[in-house]
Amino acid sequence: MEKQIFDYIICGGGASGLLLLDALSGDSYFNTPSILLIEQEVKNSNDRTWCFWEASPGHFDPLLRKTWPSASFKSKELKLDFNLEPYRYKMLRSKSFYQEIQHKIKSNTQVTYLKAKVTEVKEKGASTAVHTTLGVFESEKVFNSIFNPKALYNQKKYPVLKQHFIGWFIKTKTAQFDPGKVFFMDFDIPQKEQTRFIYVLPLSENHALVEYTLFSEALLAREEYEAGIIDYLKAQGIHDFEIEEKEEGNIPMSCFPFEQFNTPSLLHIGTAGGWTKASTGFTFKNTQRNINQLVRFLKTGKKLNQFQTKNRFRFYDLLFLDVLLKYNAQGSKLFERMFVKNHPLTIFRFLDEKTTFLEELKILSSFSLKQIKWFLNALIKRLI
Ligand SMILES: Cc1cc2nc3c(=O)[nH]c(=O)nc-3n(C[C@H](O)[C@H](O)[C@H](O)COP(=O)(O)OP(=O)(O)OC[C@H]3O[C@@H](n4cnc5c(N)ncnc54)[C@H](O)[C@@H]3O)c2cc1C
Repeated sequence: MEKQIFDYIICGGGASGLLLLDALSGDSYFNTPSILLIEQEVKNSNDRTWCFWEASPGHFDPLLRKTWPSASFKSKELKLDFNLEPYRYKMLRSKSFYQEIQHKIKSNTQVTYLKAKVTEVKEKGASTAVHTTLGVFESEKVFNSIFNPKALYNQKKYPVLKQHFIGWFIKTKTAQFDPGKVFFMDFDIPQKEQTRFIYVLPLSENHALVEYTLFSEALLAREEYEAGIIDYLKAQGIHDFEIEEKEEGNIPMSCFPFEQFNTPSLLHIGTAGGWTKASTGFTFKNTQRNINQLVRFLKTGKKLNQFQTKNRFRFYDLLFLDVLLKYNAQGSKLFERMFVKNHPLTIFRFLDEKTTFLEELKILSSFSLKQIKWFLNALIKRLI
């Protein structure tokens, strides 16, 4: 490629890279700058199923595979069904998302799409140089979504859990699912000293994505997730089914301050920027929200390391992870208390970081005395 210097370079064309590209190319303020997007893979498959909740209309509504107006939560002691109004729970499959953005890029002459591997990203004067298998490119504004787990796992200050799962898209012979309701968390399965739950996204009465999920430190052997799905289906009386597709994931849950790696000309975005909600692993909606903020920020002309996403919810997540790491077998009880003592929509707004401080105090007060002690101990340890 002849051109070496770009106004913007985006490393990684997954969720956050493409969300940023979509936002820049959809805003007339950015009509003239040159943008280079570097991605090593051909992104055209359903390698992710992104779910999130939001009020309609949403930016990606035309691409959604399915939406649900209601949800359920279950633990040993509690079964709740609730309406999500004004939200809908939404499912976006990555193939349609990748195709849509790539289609937009094709007709946009300011965007260069380079299929190459990024080998190094380093500061060079007032710019950042991106080394790839097809050359070195420079920009004063580089956005890096390539997650480097080393820094996260080589430290002890911030707890690191994982949201890890295997999911099967299954088809049953008879009607087995309620297509109007997503099963957000079903903790009524053996916890085996960890935080384990089943997540069910029914696509029709006889189609669903069923995921066996943990919030814990270590991954399981594949057979254990799969046995968990089979046991769950048997317990629901579902013996006869076909697996149409499989997916799996391992999402880091941590409040590690990834922003320490940002520089005046380099900003980490997506999971690499710490934009994964630490207490749940949800990333897509957070990333969309941060990108909207980032687009406004870029118009100020400030240095990239002045961009801030940190807020008080990061500290709540940190305490929650401190407790969940130490008392991993108690995760279902912690979620149960939150759902039994608060309106489920308040919990969804809390996870969305939209609650008031008073509401947050009320959520804290929903825990048992023993659980509150765990949080206070975590708080004291963080403060001293
Ligand atoms: C199976 C799965 C399901 C998920 N479901 C949800 C969900 O329901 N809701 C939710 O909110 N979050 C979900 N997540 C978490 C999160 O939303 C996704 O991981 C999301 O894709 C993160 O976006 P990202 O841009 O940070 O990373 P990615 O989407 O992984 O993008 C990074 C890109 O960088 C590219 N890349 C990596 N290394 C290089 C290199 N050296 N050179 C060039 N390119 C490189 C990769 O190929 C990739 O395309 C899920 C994650 C997984 C794995």
